[in-house]
Amino acid sequence: MRENKIIIKTSNYFLTGSLLNLFYNHLPPCQNEIVIPKEPLLTRNINNFYIKNNVKLAIVGAGVAGSYLGNRLQRLGHQIEIFEATKKESHWPVCAWGASKNMLETFSKNAGLNFDNYVLHYGKKLRMDLPEEKIEYLDLKGLVTYDKYLWEADLCHGLKINYGFHCTPESDFLSNFDYIIDCTGFHRSLLPRSPQDFIIPSYEFLVENVKGIDEFYVIGYKGARGYFWFFPLGNGRAYIGAGDIDRRYFGISEFFEKNPHAKVLRKIGRPIRLSPPKRMLPFHNENIIGVGESIGCVFPLLGEGIIPSLICCNIFIDILNRDSTFDSSLYKKRILKKFGYYDDVYRIVRLKMDGKLNSIKHFKLLMSMYRNMKREEKRFGFGIDFKQMNRLLKAL
Ligand SMILES: Cc1cc2nc3c(=O)[nH]c(=O)nc-3n(C[C@H](O)[C@H](O)[C@H](O)COP(=O)(O)OP(=O)(O)OC[C@H]3O[C@@H](n4cnc5c(N)ncnc54)[C@H](O)[C@@H]3O)c2cc1C
Repeated sequence: MRENKIIIKTSNYFLTGSLLNLFYNHLPPCQNEIVIPKEPLLTRNINNFYIKNNVKLAIVGAGVAGSYLGNRLQRLGHQIEIFEATKKESHWPVCAWGASKNMLETFSKNAGLNFDNYVLHYGKKLRMDLPEEKIEYLDLKGLVTYDKYLWEADLCHGLKINYGFHCTPESDFLSNFDYIIDCTGFHRSLLPRSPQDFIIPSYEFLVENVKGIDEFYVIGYKGARGYFWFFPLGNGRAYIGAGDIDRRYFGISEFFEKNPHAKVLRKIGRPIRLSPPKRMLPFHNENIIGVGESIGCVFPLLGEGIIPSLICCNIFIDILNRDSTFDSSLYKKRILKKFGYYDDVYRIVRLKMDGKLNSIKHFKLLMSMYRNMKREEKRFGFGIDFKQMNRLLKAL
């Protein structure tokens, strides 16, 4: 996994800080090792040079955030050890494995993987059944399902992972690390609880032998109180599941009635966090820092957390690589800025759930959601259309 590199050991800050800075115009001071990839200097972008900080990090949780972070940080020369609560043989990414290919290609490339090797189904249209027998179709522009189990396993290749370690803030073995990263997702095992935390119960089945349906399909519940999903995984396999604040999970038993041949391979579930970062403070506690769903990086309208968690990882990595000490106030600022509009989306969802959303009174909130989603259309993997969004919200 480690990149080829030349390490120049220096104890002379002046030499490294000034001469090399002159040369590369990029290097921060006070580092004692400068790592230069063994490639022709002039062909590489200046951002590809990095400083080896020798920071020792414990990553708690080997989900999407923990695996990606571990991969990237080890490649950058940091000392990484991952602690995962589940046993290796039972470890499974609880998720419906749907996300935008447009973003996952880049994340994969950053981690030395080719995303094409993991795609299971390329979506074209998503059918959405709405209350009162209304139907909408979303044009898909990159939404795929992918083998998240394999993707995470490949990210973790060559990393030191300790399975079967359920960590708490009192776990002694964590005291040997400079930083402890809480990547425990919904559990947020190492950070204080947030009084504004809001979660939605959900569960799903991994099924095979599904006939007659091979495209993304969802049923939106009245009052945006949840939805049923069918996410195709190719070759007659799919995830079917639901998140539902009322725990009725409409659509699941109906699916099995209509598809008696479908065979259940796994039943899995856990709640999904809908409260956005603004409501999940603090992001750190002494040397414990939260990354991913543990600090609310989930898009509240959809309960979609893969890409937000990976974006959060990139922000973390960027800040860690600036200096040998982690600037937690800058991290907080950048996370709140990046995921700022998630709070507007969250307010829309909660207002809708309480039957209080009014298109005139809450016009500013609705416009914020539309403009930001439109700007990030590629990251969602489906077309964002104002009229359709209005129709959907009215129908729910
Ligand atoms: C049923 C379901 C379907 C979903 N479908 C989608 C989808 O299709 N697309 C999408 O974008 N998002 C989806 N999501 C949301 C998405 O899966 C999460 O937001 C995302 O996985 C969060 O990543 P994470 O790494 O922060 O946490 P996770 O992926 O949840 O990983 C957390 C890891 O930490 C481990 N852990 C927990 N506590 C401890 C502890 N104390 N010590 C050690 N290890 C611990 C867990 O075992 C787990 O491996 C879904 C969620 C659910 C529940």
